[in-house]
Amino acid sequence: MKKLILKPGREKSLKRRHPWVFSGAIARAEGEPKAGDTVAVHAADGTFLAVAAYSPQSQIRARVWDWRERDIDDGFLAGRVAQAVHARAALAAGGAGDVLRLIHGESDGLPGVIADRYGDMVVLQLLSTGAERWRGAIADALAALPGVRCVWERSDADVRALEGLEPQTGLLRGAAPASPHAVIEHGIKYEIGFESGHKTGFYLDQRDNRLRVRALAAGCDALDCFCYSGGFALNMLKGGAKSVTAVDSSADALAQARRHAELNQLPAAEWLEGDVFQTLRRFRDQGKSFDLIVLDPPKFAPTAAHAEKAARAYKDINLLGFKLLRPGGALATFSCSGGVSADLFQKIVAGAALDAGVEARITDWLHAAADHPVALPFPEGEYLKGLVCRVSV
Ligand code: SAH
Repeated sequence: MKKLILKPGREKSLKRRHPWVFSGAIARAEGEPKAGDTVAVHAADGTFLAVAAYSPQSQIRARVWDWRERDIDDGFLAGRVAQAVHARAALAAGGAGDVLRLIHGESDGLPGVIADRYGDMVVLQLLSTGAERWRGAIADALAALPGVRCVWERSDADVRALEGLEPQTGLLRGAAPASPHAVIEHGIKYEIGFESGHKTGFYLDQRDNRLRVRALAAGCDALDCFCYSGGFALNMLKGGAKSVTAVDSSADALAQARRHAELNQLPAAEWLEGDVFQTLRRFRDQGKSFDLIVLDPPKFAPTAAHAEKAARAYKDINLLGFKLLRPGGALATFSCSGGVSADLFQKIVAGAALDAGVEARITDWLHAAADHPVALPFPEGEYLKGLVCRVSV
């Protein structure tokens, strides 16, 4: 097997089973490995550490497949896919509906592989050279799952460029899926934009948090900021909100959200196209107020390097959110930035409440749903955090 030899002392993170080998840790490669090749990673003293997929263009130069010395082949990939699916059997049976993340990358022992199940279709996203190399085996394993009629590829995320990979999308296995593709989450129907929607078409990670917001909504004048295809707003309507206003900058997303409201015969909502930062200021100037506000912005800080600028943006919207809340109201506020820790996020939100002149307490700490696990040695896997803050009467 081709080899990567680390510099002295650089084996520590691998010994803790962190699955990435950074370029700066490598002393040399032996056997001229190419993109996607399996390499054996050795410490400077020759100790075997792991087998990994090689990625010559990326700062993350190798991603670990296994901690034992073994070949990586179709059977290995099929086994890992089966393990990931098996681990979710209880969730699939437990009312999550037919929308489930089946494979969550590194945390499922499949670095760079994301697979989301939408009813009888699976949308696959390959984000690393190792994942790319084993496309066929992964697609075969997914296509063979009971009830799966098609596997669709959505490998068009920007991060592929860091690995030197071109975008790739389209049908991989089975029959072309019905479009629009209808699914149900917590009793609400959605049509998944699997061809061009964000991520694989839907934000599955917010599944449980949408239900939590539904439970808070009865009788509320509610506001959903960054609503995308309506996830939180639809749950607010379903939960008996008195009124729902939803804001997003994307006309396409809003059209989908409106369609979802109709499809579910939910009461009318106000769907507003606009920038949330400006809209919240306008609402403040107009003296508007709400009982329940959701802030679910896009990733302001993809890495820790962007944390400071992101912190200002989070502070800004949370401050405005607190100002727009009526006494006794609740703010459900999220960050999906890997570069902003849960601890920092809580500090930012606390600062926003202080500056808004409100007293608030946290009633819920929220995370991604259970089909987005975080492997213990891989804290990078924890990206989504949320707080429900109730302000004093
Ligand atoms: N809450 C959604 C997911 C939100 S994703 C759900 O549960 O499905 C983030 C959304 O923010 C995207 O739809 C994007 O179009 C929107 N967006 C990004 N920047 C924005 C801005 N400055 N103002 C308004 N919307 C914005």
